Amino acid sequence: MKLTVVYDNEADIGLKSGWGFSCLVEASERLLFDTGPKGDELLFNMKQLNIEAKSIDKVIISHEHWDHNGGLEALTEIHSKVRVFKPDSCSGLTQISPGVRSTGPLEGAVIEQSLIVETGKGSIVVTGCAHPGLENILEKARPLGKIYGVVGGFHGFAKLQELDGIEMIAPCHCTKAKKEIRQKYPSQFREIKAGNIIEVSD
Ligand SMILES: [Zn+2]
Ligand SMILES: [Zn+2]
Repeated sequence: MKLTVVYDNEADIGLKSGWGFSCLVEASERLLFDTGPKGDELLFNMKQLNIEAKSIDKVIISHEHWDHNGGLEALTEIHSKVRVFKPDSCSGLTQISPGVRSTGPLEGAVIEQSLIVETGKGSIVVTGCAHPGLENILEKARPLGKIYGVVGGFHGFAKLQELDGIEMIAPCHCTKAKKEIRQKYPSQFREIKAGNIIEVSD
C-alpha cells in the first residue's frame, strides 16, 4: 500500500500548503481520504503529484469540517461518478474497499471516521483530525490485529503512551503534541507533509 500526502499544513517545494489535510491511499483501489480546504489547491497538488482525478475510485471524508471537505465539490465536478463516503455513510466498522475499513462514525466535537488499511506489517490507521480522540480510534482498530502505523491529524491527543508498540507514527496537520511525540518516540516518528509518500509492502 502506498500513501501520498496530497495536502497538509506543510508541503514540499512546488506544492500548495495550508490548514487542512488530504491523502491518497493506493491499495487494491485508489482512495482519496479528505480533500483539503480548497478545490483549486487540491487539484493543483494532485496535478503536481500526477494524480489523475478520474483515476480515483472512492473518496472518504473524515468529517464535515471545511479543511477536510472543502475540495470535494471541485473534485466531483470533474469526476461525478466517484463514490463518496461521508461519516454517516458507514455504521460501525465498514469495509470500504478490499483491505480498507472505516472505523465508522465516532463521536467527538464532531462525528468523524478514520481509515484502517491492512498491510503486510499490520494495519495503518489514517485520521483526519482525530476529534473523537486518537486513543478511541486506535481502540476501534486494535481488535482487527496489530497496528503498524498511524498517520494524520491527531488534534489534541495527549495520552502519548497509547502509541506504545506502534512502529510508524506520522502526525501532521492539526497535531498539537507533535514535538512531545517526536521526543517520546524518536525512532518511530516520521515527519510528513504534502508531497511525501509512505510505502509499506502488502
Ligand atoms: Zn482538520
Ligand atoms: Zn476538524
